[in-house]
Amino acid sequence: MGDSQVKSRYHHLLSTNDEPSPSETAEIRKIVEQRETAIGQLEAQIIELEETLNVLKDRHKREKDLLFPFQSALAPIRRVPCDILIEIFLFTRDWTDGSSVIRGLAPITVGITHVCSHWRRVALSVPMLWSIMEATCRTRDGEGTYSFNDSQIQTWLSRAGSLSPLDIICRAPYQASVSPTWMNQYLHRIRTISLIGGCFELPSETFDVLEVLNMSGAYGRREGDISAPALLRLGFEGGIEDLPRIPYHQLTHLHLDLTTYSTRPSAFLAVLSRCSALVELRALCYLEASLMSAYSSIPPPEDHECIVMHNLAAFSMSYPLVPWLLARLTLPALKTLQVERTFWSSSIYHSFQSRSSFSLKSIVLIHLRKMNYLDFFDLLRDTPSIREITSCGTLFPTPTLIAGLASDSHQGFSILAPNLEYLGICQISFPDNGFIVHDQVVLDMISSRDPSGQRAVCVESGSPDTKIFKSHSTREPSLAGEIPPFAMEQHLCEDMPKNKTVHHFFF
Ligand SMILES: [Zn+2]
Repeated sequence: MGDSQVKSRYHHLLSTNDEPSPSETAEIRKIVEQRETAIGQLEAQIIELEETLNVLKDRHKREKDLLFPFQSALAPIRRVPCDILIEIFLFTRDWTDGSSVIRGLAPITVGITHVCSHWRRVALSVPMLWSIMEATCRTRDGEGTYSFNDSQIQTWLSRAGSLSPLDIICRAPYQASVSPTWMNQYLHRIRTISLIGGCFELPSETFDVLEVLNMSGAYGRREGDISAPALLRLGFEGGIEDLPRIPYHQLTHLHLDLTTYSTRPSAFLAVLSRCSALVELRALCYLEASLMSAYSSIPPPEDHECIVMHNLAAFSMSYPLVPWLLARLTLPALKTLQVERTFWSSSIYHSFQSRSSFSLKSIVLIHLRKMNYLDFFDLLRDTPSIREITSCGTLFPTPTLIAGLASDSHQGFSILAPNLEYLGICQISFPDNGFIVHDQVVLDMISSRDPSGQRAVCVESGSPDTKIFKSHSTREPSLAGEIPPFAMEQHLCEDMPKNKTVHHFFF
C-alpha cells in the first residue's frame, strides 16, 4: 500500500480528533514503527554523507589555501615594470581642491609603502615621489604651544633627496604663530609653497626657484618683502590689504579670493596695475553698497589712461563692479571671460572690446543683472569671434532669443556669432512672460545656421531637466582642446539647483 493510500484509508482519523478503534490502533502502531525505522536509516545515511562532505570541504579549503599563493605569484601586478609602478605611485598624489590654490598636488599616499617590501623599496628609491610634502603645525603640550614635527619633516625631506624641487604645504591653526624655520636650508629648492591657516612668517632670504605661492586664510599677515625671482603664480585668500609683498610685475597667474572683507575698487585697481605680465586672472570680491554707488558715479578714464595687460587671456571675475572695472582695462589678448554676480553694460563692453580689439573665444555669464536679449545680441555683434557661450541664471531660451540667433532672420545682415559652436543655458527661473520656446523652433534655428542645410536633431539626454539640441554637422566645442564642463553636464548650480533646466545647443 502506497503512502497516499495509507493516508486516505486513515483520513477519518488524521483529519479529526476521533479515537481509533482497537484494530486501527494496532495497525497504526505498526505504521509508526515502520516510519521510525525508515527515518533512523535515513539519519544514518545523512551522517555518513555529512562526514564525507566535511572531508571534501576540508580538502577544498586546503587546495584553495595552496592555490592562492601560486596564483599570486602569477598576478599581473608582479610583472609591472618599476617605471610603470612609479608612474602609478605618482598618480596617488591627487590634485587638491580649493579655489585659491593655483597648482596643488597632494603628497603621495604613504600607505603604498606598507604594501610589501618591494613596493616600499621602489617608493623610497624615487626622490620625486617625496618632493611634495605636507607639514602640519600642532600643539604638543596641550597648552597652546604650537610647533612642527621636525623629525618627521626631516625623514620626509631625506627621502626627497638633494636635487628634486620641493612643493611644500604648511598647515597651522589660525591661533598658531610659528615660523617654518626648517625651510631655511631648502630655500634654493622650493618650487611651491602653500600656507594654509594660521600666520607664520616666511624666511626673508631669497627663494631661488619658487614658482607658486598659495596663501589661504592669510588674515592680518604681515610679511616683509618676499624675494622670489622665479615666482609666476599667486593664489591668495584674505583681505586685499594682507596681500604678500612679492614681485607682482612678473606674475602670470593670479587667483584672488578677497571675500573676507569688502574690497576698495581703487586698491584692487592698484594691484592690477602692477600685474603687467598676467595671463590668467581670477578674482572674487565683495564691495560695500555705499562704496558701490560712490564708485559707480566716477566717470571712466580716457582710453590711454586704462591699464593695459598685454598677455591676459583668461579673466574670471565675481565682483559687483565688473563694468566699472572693464571701463578701466585694455586686454588685447583676452580669449575667455567669465563674469559673475554683477550687472552688465552693453556700452561699456562695446568700448572695452573696441579699445582692446581682442578675439574672445569663450564667455561665461553667471547671475548677471540687467542683461536682456538686446544686450546679449549687442555682445554677439561686438564679438564675432565667439565660439562658446555659457549662461547660468542670466539668459532664457525665449522665442526672441532663439529667433535672433537664426540665420534667416538677418536678411542683408551677417549671421550673429558666425563662429558659435556651443551655447549652454542654465535656467533657474522663468522669464517674466513665462514663455519658453518650443523644441521645433530651436531645431529650425540650429538648422538655419548649418551650411549643410541638414536638419538638426534633439538628442536624448537621460534627464528630464536637460535638453540637448545638435546640428547635423555639429562641431564638438573644444576651446583649448577641452570641452567646457558645462557642456559635459557637470555644471554645478549654486542657486536653486533642484529647479534648474539646462539647455545645450551645439551648432
Ligand atoms: Zn546654473
